[in-house]
Amino acid sequence: MTGDNFSRRVLAWFERHGRKHLPWQQQVTPYRVWVSEIMLQQTQVQTVIPYYERFLQRFPDLQALADAPLDDVLHHWSGLGYYARARNLHQAARVVRDQHQGEFPREFDAVCQLPGIGRSTAGAILSLACQQRFAILDGNVKRVLARFYAVEGWPGKSAVLKQLWELSEAVTSDERVAEFNQAMMDLGATVCTRGRPDCARCPLSDACRAHAAGTQARYPQPKPRARLPQRETHMLLLVDGQAAYLERRPAQGIWGGLWSFPEFDSREALLAWCDARALDTAGIETQPPLGHTFSHFHLTITPHRLALKNPGFSVMEGSGRWYTLGRAEAVGLAAPVQRLLGRLQRTTNEDNQHGANGQLRETGQRSRRA
Ligand code: SF4
Repeated sequence: MTGDNFSRRVLAWFERHGRKHLPWQQQVTPYRVWVSEIMLQQTQVQTVIPYYERFLQRFPDLQALADAPLDDVLHHWSGLGYYARARNLHQAARVVRDQHQGEFPREFDAVCQLPGIGRSTAGAILSLACQQRFAILDGNVKRVLARFYAVEGWPGKSAVLKQLWELSEAVTSDERVAEFNQAMMDLGATVCTRGRPDCARCPLSDACRAHAAGTQARYPQPKPRARLPQRETHMLLLVDGQAAYLERRPAQGIWGGLWSFPEFDSREALLAWCDARALDTAGIETQPPLGHTFSHFHLTITPHRLALKNPGFSVMEGSGRWYTLGRAEAVGLAAPVQRLLGRLQRTTNEDNQHGANGQLRETGQRSRRA
């Protein structure tokens, strides 16, 4: 099938079945498309929509994003994962503000130089928002092309990636490029899906090699991977009334720049940290572990809850803060830390309730005796 024929079919399919009402397809600007493209990396449309709307409400334009503190940006990203995306977005907004007079660049090379923007994202922004003819190659497009042309090998390998880029360049429409690229993403997301390609509804089915051979599941080939290694960590959930003690993580590494509980390699190290601050650990309570999977390892978190007996006691150090439970403070939190804070809030409420009931009972007894 020629590139022209391919793009004509895809465009005709888009007219009838493509998605045209996504939030970033309204009032289209490079900034709005850029934010959506970054959020959509590794995350599905339905998950992204509410985050996107909240993010755009808080940071309606590039200037607002560039001027905001990183904590605020991470807070609005909390739960989406892959926080390097948010840090890069924020940093890139500052580069555009300071080096491009606040105007998102329209030149491909300049866009590619912004932090967190690669070839496919640059192509998506310039095609969707500025109608410039650039091919894209996100996960959905890779899948469609790998199946249609029966491309062997894992797309993470440079030779396979190069082949897929050449195919994407060859099929990309010369006209209506925004619609074509959107159509390819939609086709991958809604028809040529990872687990259940619906070839009967696909405009490319009569020329698709994987469909002809019944080998759709073979493409694209997955990353050859060893079992993910297991890691363990211990977190100290230090509570003072309605507040929990958090520390900011270093900018680099997992959850970089986010707030987390103090973390230790072992329970012994955690107890030693408490001892060094003269914290009474007699009532420390080890809670059920929590699992979290990163792209390159599994992490098991063992939480240890310690309620301070002498309110007002301060363990504040350079990078620490007290986080008020239930207040959704404007700071970035990793998903497991959010879950543990929710757990803490429930436990603390229950403790308070028991305390309150106990007091009521005592008061009642006293009044009966009186
Ligand atoms: S025919 Fe099936 S496998 Fe081929 S591109 Fe279409 S949906 Fe994917």
